[in-house]
Amino acid sequence: MIEFRGVNKWFGDLHVLKDINLTIGRGEVVVVAGPSGSGKSTLLRTINYLEPVQEGEILVDGEPIGRRRQGNRWVEDSPAEINRKRQEIGMVFQQFNLFPHMTALENVMEGLVTVRRMPRQEAERIAREMLARVGLADRMDHRPSKLSGGQQQRVAIARALAMRPKVILFDEPTSALDPELTGEVLNVMLDVARQGYTMVVVTHEMGFAREVAHRIVFMDDGRVLLDVPPEQFFRDPGHPRARDFLGRVL
Ligand code: ATP
Ligand code: MG
Repeated sequence: MIEFRGVNKWFGDLHVLKDINLTIGRGEVVVVAGPSGSGKSTLLRTINYLEPVQEGEILVDGEPIGRRRQGNRWVEDSPAEINRKRQEIGMVFQQFNLFPHMTALENVMEGLVTVRRMPRQEAERIAREMLARVGLADRMDHRPSKLSGGQQQRVAIARALAMRPKVILFDEPTSALDPELTGEVLNVMLDVARQGYTMVVVTHEMGFAREVAHRIVFMDDGRVLLDVPPEQFFRDPGHPRARDFLGRVL
């Protein structure tokens, strides 16, 4: 479903992704872990081309995103092409990114109406269904400021699901939440995983990783140091950097 082939990325002189080769299969849940600054968010953001890369290629569902090889040179996708491919990829951010002036329902409908050009009635039907699925049937008419952080994040997840993405990317979806609200968001993510979505999740929630992830990708200094099943990662990651990391987060 997602494939990194020899990906390298720099911010100016800073080499932030180093020789990334990674394959994520359909329906797989992959947790990306690693110390601050190791490149986790950057890796995630390259999947929907929010961050361009300078070397290598990234394929989503067999299609290269952002740039592709043509003979012996690289060709950039047009903005329209990038937008089309991005619609297939949902993203949930640490800071929810909801529209403050819209209700929960309107937030979930927005992409369906403006991007998918769906009639309002149909968009509303889908949005209601998605909000009910994340446990917010009774909060649909509330604006974000009238919702808790956990509820806002569940709206953001409903919004991503409404677009029927092939892949959903989560970048530290619970780190802005009070601990007592983290569980409700993780439960919704668990439910999404059980529906068979392909998910790439950057998180420090190792309980979630242990329970839900098929694989843990451990990054350090721009490299993928480990790509292993959770049982192995938590038993003994076998790498001093990963042992250090686990010592700090567990
Ligand atoms: P954290 O756990 O703190 O979120 P991370 O693993 O997500 O960290 P990234 O945000 O991917 O790390 O950053 C990787 C490196 O790239 C860091 O050294 C960071 O300072 C740098 N970086 C990130 N975004 C930019 C940018 N837009 N311009 C320049 N450097 C950047
Ligand atoms: Mg980050």
